[in-house]
Amino acid sequence: MKFATKAIHAGQEPDPSTGAVMTPIYQTSTYWQKSPGDNQGYEYSRGTNPTRNALENCLAALENAKYGLAFSSGMGATDAVMKLLAPGDEVITGNDLYGGSYRIFTKIYANYGIKFHFIDLADPELINQYVNENTKLIWIETPTNPTMRIVDIEAVAKISKAKKLKLVVDNTFASPYLQNPIDLGADIVMHSVTKYIGGHSDVVMGALMLNDDDTYKKLWFIYNACGATPGPMDSFLVLRGIKTLHLRMKAHCENGRIIAEFLKTHPKVEKIYWPGFTDHPNHDVAKKQMKDFGGMISIVLKGADLKETFRVASSFKVFTLAESLGGVESLINHPVSMTHGSIPKPERDKAGVVDNLLRLSVGVEDVEDLLEDLKQALA
Ligand SMILES: *Cc1c(COP(=O)(O)O)cnc(C)c1O
Repeated sequence: MKFATKAIHAGQEPDPSTGAVMTPIYQTSTYWQKSPGDNQGYEYSRGTNPTRNALENCLAALENAKYGLAFSSGMGATDAVMKLLAPGDEVITGNDLYGGSYRIFTKIYANYGIKFHFIDLADPELINQYVNENTKLIWIETPTNPTMRIVDIEAVAKISKAKKLKLVVDNTFASPYLQNPIDLGADIVMHSVTKYIGGHSDVVMGALMLNDDDTYKKLWFIYNACGATPGPMDSFLVLRGIKTLHLRMKAHCENGRIIAEFLKTHPKVEKIYWPGFTDHPNHDVAKKQMKDFGGMISIVLKGADLKETFRVASSFKVFTLAESLGGVESLINHPVSMTHGSIPKPERDKAGVVDNLLRLSVGVEDVEDLLEDLKQALA
């Protein structure tokens, strides 16, 4: 099945008891047993729930994976992956990660004896220098947040396989519509479903998609034992949101391109990060592994101090100043004071997350209105 068909149908069948076309919200915590242990496949909703299971099958299909697991947040999904590790294990990851990933690695899992190497993944060969007998996992994100750096998934997957490591790709920024890491050799795909997949800024949720039976069994055990699983209402909202994922992504990409081109030559813009430009340092890799370039754009304001950056960030009328991304509405974000506040300044500077950087999540409104808004805010 092609992507648009999967987005609408995968994992879903008319409800057997009523014929309802849309998967019902099975708002129940527990299930009837005919005699002890004799149930119909459902015991308790922390582990299994029909609405969530339909969503998980749909999520798996979107990433061409055998299994999907939904979590109550993206961080809940990341947490479950980290619980596959044991003290003494080492992880190799990028040096411009999502702030929350950096925080859980350094402030939680480092205390449990797991060692993290934060390296520049522009050259995947560099990974080889950090692999030793304790290395278990490579964790990458592409495009990165907020400077839209691109990591060559296929090249990293080759190294990961050769060294018998697990490769996890945080695919949140691309969405399954633009990029499918498992097809490129990744072992596990992680999503903050909160963003493009949910798409309407009304749900916080995470997901893991994978093929390997043994890893799935371990992750399902963690999911059920630790219990960061989403409820039926949220699962329903995401199932509904996914039905337009392909339509939304096309519109995000179209608006993103027009706005990126407008900003590139704007006199108030010193630097722009968007992988669709041919002079982006990894444009060729982006072109190879992504279907299109998305609606995430970051800009550095020319000669603006923190005060002027705050003024610009607060003067939008259509764009909303808020954290998060990937919803139908356009958002503007100041990474240093908002999403990336938990990353120490020296680390931020290294990653180019400077005081006068703004990140745009271009929504699917009429692009003329978005352009007008940018013109007046930057004036
Ligand atoms: C938002 C986000 C996360 C965390 O997901 P939550 O749903 O907020 O817990 C992880 N990675 C990336 C790239 C994100 O944008």
